[in-house]
This record gives sequence, C-alpha cells and structure tokens, in this order.
Amino acid sequence: MAVVVTPLETAEVLAVGTEMLGADRTDTNSLFLASRLQELGIQLRAKSIVGDDRALLAQFVGLALGRVDLVILTGGLGPTDDDVTRAAVADAVRRPLVERADVLARIEARFARRNMTMPAINRRQAEVIDGAVIIDNRNGTAPGQWIDVGSRVVILLPGPPRELRPMMDGPVMERLRARVAGHRLVRRSIRLVGPTESHAEERLQPLYAEWARREVPVAVTILAARGQIELQLTVRSDDEAAARDAIERAVGEVEARFGPDVCSTSGGPLEVRLGELLRARGWRLALAESCTGGLATSRLVDVAGSSDYVERAFVVYSNQAKIDELGVAPALLAAHGAVSEPVALAMAEGARRVSGADMAVAITGIAGPGGGTPDKPVGTVVIAVTDGTGRSRVRTALLPGDRAHVRWFASTLALDAVRRLLIDDSP
Ligand code: ATP
Ligand code: MG
Repeated sequence: MAVVVTPLETAEVLAVGTEMLGADRTDTNSLFLASRLQELGIQLRAKSIVGDDRALLAQFVGLALGRVDLVILTGGLGPTDDDVTRAAVADAVRRPLVERADVLARIEARFARRNMTMPAINRRQAEVIDGAVIIDNRNGTAPGQWIDVGSRVVILLPGPPRELRPMMDGPVMERLRARVAGHRLVRRSIRLVGPTESHAEERLQPLYAEWARREVPVAVTILAARGQIELQLTVRSDDEAAARDAIERAVGEVEARFGPDVCSTSGGPLEVRLGELLRARGWRLALAESCTGGLATSRLVDVAGSSDYVERAFVVYSNQAKIDELGVAPALLAAHGAVSEPVALAMAEGARRVSGADMAVAITGIAGPGGGTPDKPVGTVVIAVTDGTGRSRVRTALLPGDRAHVRWFASTLALDAVRRLLIDDSP
C-alpha cells in the first residue's frame, strides 16, 4: 500500500523558557526559524513563548498539533529539572520517553573528550520520544528530535542559538524540504507609493479573489511602512516556468490597475528606484529643502552609489537662505509666503540653475506644531520639481500627523515627485 505523505503547509513555533518571559531576555530563535520556514514556503501561523512548565507546555503542544502541520520547539532540552520539553511533548503525543543507548554513548563520549565523567543528570538528555529521529547536535550535548505524529511533525531543538542554527540549517531543512509541496517557490515584491494602505487594499481585493482561484494560485501579503506599500506575491509550484508566468501575469495586473503608483516591481524601495531611474538617464539631481532640513537628501544618500546621481542639496530654512542660495525673488516671498507654489517652483528652478544639475526638487512646508494659519494649516507642504527641459510640476498637500510624520512624508512626496516626472512621457 502506498503511503501518502501530506505536505507540511503550516507551522507554529514554541520558544520554551521562563527566562524569556522576564524583562531582559528575548526569543531570537523564533525569528531565525521564521526566516527558514519562509524560505520553504511553510506558513508560520503563530509563535508563543512558554515558561518551563511541563503541563502548560504539553497543553500548547497539543493545541498546536490540532491546528498546524508542523510544531517546532526550541529550548528546554538541557539536563536540569527545569528542562521540561522532552517530557511535555511526550505527554502531548502520548508516547513514552525511552533511553537511547547510542545517544547516551555519544553524550558520554563528549564528556570523555574533555576528560570528564558524565554527571548523572545528563543521562536524561539521552531520553527521546519513542519513534523519534535523532538530530545530531555538534555544539552541545542535547540532540534534537524529529517526531512524526500521523501526518504532522514535531521538532525539538535546543535553546542556545549556536546549537540550534546548524541543526536547523543542516539536517532539519533537508528533511523539511522533502516534505514541502511544490519545491519551486517564486516570490516578487511590488512597491506602491501614493495610495494609502486601505485604498490600495480596496482596489486589490478583486484581484486577490481571482488570484486565489487560478490554476497556479498567487498568494499575497500586503505590508505598509512609512508611506510605502509592499505587496509580496508568492507562488508555489513544482513547475518553475508556470510559477514565473503566474507571477508575471499578476504583476502586470497590478501595474494596469495602479499605473504610476507602482514604484517598483523588483522589490526596491523608493530611494533605490529613484536612483535606478536617474542613473538610467545619466541625470544628476539637486535638492532644495526647507521644512525637511535635509531628510530627503539623507534618504537618497543612504543608498550606496548615490554619488552617481545626487549633485548637491541646499538646506534653505529661512527666507534669506532661499534668497541668498537659490535666488528666490524677495517680492515673490512677500507676495505668496514661503510655503506657496510660486516659491517652491522658484526654489526648484534656482537649485537647478545654481547647481547645474539636470533636475531639481524643492520642499517647503509647515511641519508644526506652531506656524499654522487658517489658510495654511500645520501639515501644508508644497513640492516642486523641474527637469530643465521646460517641464515642471508643483503640488500642494496637507499631511496629517506630528512634526516627525509631516517631515517624513514631505520627503517621501518629494522623492516620489522626482520619480513621477522621470517616468512621465508627457511634455
Ligand atoms: P541547555 O542544554 O544549554 O540547557 P536548552 O535546550 O535547555 O539548553 P535552554 O536552557 O532553554 O536551552 O536555554 C539555554 C540558553 O539558550 C538560554 O539561556 C538562552 O541564552 C538561549 N536561548 C534559549 N531559548 C532561546 C530563544 N528562543 N532565543 C534565543 N536564545 C535562546
Ligand atoms: Mg536549559
């Protein structure tokens, strides 16, 4: 009779150790395990930290086995009384712990190499759950265990990262790969700049539903961080070409729906994408920053290689600085105020002229908390961009949030305005 082995699709991680419930020890193993599960395309559904309590831990293991395919435990495999993982898992899967002579011999040999006799308490590290596959631990005494429970799997790994990591990266990953359906995992990340997360989500909903129904389904995760939205598309298939086609098609559909709001389809953030676009044209950029005080420039030069396209920046905080550095006409400032479209345009044009750069962007605004007026409230920001071929764009926005938030979003708008002019073919 053929044995049908179902693929492992979902997982939970249980980090065991009362010390991690305190205020100063954090569970880093689960982050490491999460990255490896992601690589395999196994969906991590939950992770928990559980104290050294046998009955409680057995309860967690039992619950996890009821709802996911794979449960990975880290910690609590030591020789002392507070190391309860072996016993708790044995309770949960209702199997005895058995002493394995080969494991015991290996532990004894490890002590012998250091001219020591094995303390009696270490004997319990040779106890394994009946039927477990032993996972060798080169950097410690406690071996790991792989336990098949019906179609599900429980894995026990030691707590110290230098023990756990090589065990996971070597034998555990090898065994897991053999248990994952569709070895080809194709992933793409799309960045959107412009829409809010909820607007993007609303426009994406119909696509999600359709993608999930396709012959090669496309799974999506949406992440929003500081004004940029990241869509992660994942396809799993045994057929790599089919997986790539499915991803390309989905990317095309996002592009059709979002147009210039799509900043990049290769995963890079706005700062990186902007650099690619400038470099492709061989253009250099100058920046004139008032309320952002250099933030936009700083974000651009965080990218290695930005000297290829960042010409220079002017931090022109006062009106006098705008006049002295960029040649903004005092009459223009007097007539419209520093936070106005004519002044922003004059700043951008001045920055381009003075620097000789191919393009320039200017930012002026009211970051708050003071300085707002009824017709120019806190959060009013004006962005102007010009490229020296006679093309200029100017835009006024009202940004929410506190000073830090307004400054950050103003810098995003400025970088994005440059990006949009670069991809815009119209005169
Ligand atoms: P040992 O044989 O060393 O006792 P063990 O498997 O019993 O190993 P624990 O006693 O739970 O593991 O933890 C030993 C040490 O490993 C902890 O003091 C901590 O430094 C580290 N550790 C344990 N769990 C984690 C975790 N989830 N993330 C990061 N470090 C951990
Ligand atoms: Mg321990």
